[in-house]
Amino acid sequence: DLLVVGSANADLVIGVERRPGAGETVLGSDLAVHPGGKGANQAVAAARLGARTALLARVGDDAYGRLLLDSQRSAGVDTVGVLVGGAPTGVALITVDPSGDNSIVVSPGANGRLAPEDVSAAGCLFQGSRVVSAQLEIPLETVVEVVRNLAPESRFVLNPSPPRPLPREVLAACDPLIVNEHEAKVILGSAAVGDSPEDWARILLAKGPRSVVVTLGAEGALVASAEGVSRVPSVKVSAVDTTGAGDAFTAALAFRLGAGASLAEAAAYAARVGAVAVTREGAQASFPTAAEVAAL
Ligand code: ADP
Repeated sequence: DLLVVGSANADLVIGVERRPGAGETVLGSDLAVHPGGKGANQAVAAARLGARTALLARVGDDAYGRLLLDSQRSAGVDTVGVLVGGAPTGVALITVDPSGDNSIVVSPGANGRLAPEDVSAAGCLFQGSRVVSAQLEIPLETVVEVVRNLAPESRFVLNPSPPRPLPREVLAACDPLIVNEHEAKVILGSAAVGDSPEDWARILLAKGPRSVVVTLGAEGALVASAEGVSRVPSVKVSAVDTTGAGDAFTAALAFRLGAGASLAEAAAYAARVGAVAVTREGAQASFPTAAEVAAL
């Protein structure tokens, strides 16, 4: 069983010809509202693949909170750990211009109120979970409490997004730490980063995680552990929208690890899931079922 601890946001998207400057108003397209946030995305992605999944998160007592609860439940996610209230639901205000570039303002809202006490009060969710997955769109002290509440036999997977330097206690629990190039560079800080993703993976591994996965977009990924560094082949597809690919990858990896796969096997499966996700528009709407992954 998989427990995802993380954010849930409503993504409010408007297409614009160009962005307004200070004091200016522009007209845009009809508003689209999508369930999002890395925690919510990962939980939906895992459940759609067939994982028994629970989400520990916080939403507001408002219409967006209900939208997020509905999308989790329709994907089959256990929402007993989705806490309600304390602040408005997290929102991402997104404008997209004709070239496809995004500008985004995030109001963390209730995500910022997911507290360490919420984690310690959710003990039974931790007891039943072989894998616990987290990201950084919630307070760092809450992620620290997640690491402290892991059951002895459970495995911790972290995608440090948005990236920031991590305490040693968190790094040491990761198995694996999953980063893209940008996240790798922020976590490494001023440490000599080397030239190749293999170098980043080795230097990250030396900071304490039991294993590291570096995702490389269309180039696939690589995995690093005490056994060495190896490439995970990419899957050739024609990408239309990469939103949510990293979330789908992380969820699929956590799901396969929980089913007993090796890190390399789980990463190869996750690369196929990420590849399907980029062939479709949207985040949660783009996540495949196990049958769709098998058909790739
Ligand atoms: P993030 O969204 O966190 O930056 P990536 O862009 O590296 O993450 O994507 C995560 C994974 O999804 C990649 O490791 C890869 O397996 C898959 N993926 C992403 N983009 C593509 C693509 N254009 N073609 C095939 N696979 C892709």
